[in-house]
Amino acid sequence: MNHIRHRTDGDGWVECVCGQRHWGLYGSAGLMVVDPAHGVLLQHRAEWSHHGGTWGIPGGARASDENALAGAKREAEEEAAIPAEHVQPTHAWVEDHGSWSYTTVIATCDVPFDPYPSDPESLDIAWVAPDDVDTLPLHPAFGKLWPSIREQAFRELVLVVDAANVVGSRPDGWWRDRAGAAEKLRDRLSGAQPVPGAQLGLPATYWWPRIHLVVEGQARNIDAAAAAPVPVTVERAPGSGDDLIAAVVQDAVMRRPGDHVVVVTSDRELRGRVEDNGASTVGPRTLDQLLDP
Ligand SMILES: [Zn+2]
Repeated sequence: MNHIRHRTDGDGWVECVCGQRHWGLYGSAGLMVVDPAHGVLLQHRAEWSHHGGTWGIPGGARASDENALAGAKREAEEEAAIPAEHVQPTHAWVEDHGSWSYTTVIATCDVPFDPYPSDPESLDIAWVAPDDVDTLPLHPAFGKLWPSIREQAFRELVLVVDAANVVGSRPDGWWRDRAGAAEKLRDRLSGAQPVPGAQLGLPATYWWPRIHLVVEGQARNIDAAAAAPVPVTVERAPGSGDDLIAAVVQDAVMRRPGDHVVVVTSDRELRGRVEDNGASTVGPRTLDQLLDP
């Protein structure tokens, strides 16, 4: 076991505008890994630490050059031996005080791993069933957020994009090269930052969507996106794009009930059809706002 205390240039206290002192000169971030079979991964904090003896999530001060996700992943690896390169963030809650913020990143991990306290800040790292979390003495900030976190913990955002409709919403000459226009859209989607929940009517501050781009006609043969920050699955419609979109929605809703499935299209008939199947819908303009905030 590694007993070195890790340090970053963000280590330090902030006298916050809210009147309290918080840890993390550039804000702090923590990671909660969820697994339907095991529950949520919590940390029993060392007695000497701030709010020692309580349960929360592994996390700590962000470094000056880290975004919240990078900071949360690094802390989780240092404190709980969570394999950071296999962590897939799904959504995050930001408690923003202006002069300081705390970001709680919810994530899945695509490989099995044995969590253990890998630095002296943790007494224990354990999977806890959601029903049992309330029975533990919780870190006050985590305890306050837990009811909201619990509600969304195992949910993901699935974004199904009607390529022909979105491409056609901008008179930029797309009709001269339909495949090229679809590729451009694919690349914009794969470069997407996490998207703000409020713009999609969702709880949580932002979401990392799983994206299905449905292409048809001349755009059908575009390649899947290469390794990208946000993976985009290209769905090729042999016939009507609408039928495939409806099928993708139905599959998503049936396979993982509770996920937020959002279809991007302005086609009225299609909107009605997928809404009947449990999806919500937004138009191409909302997608523009999500991609270029
Ligand atoms: Zn504050």
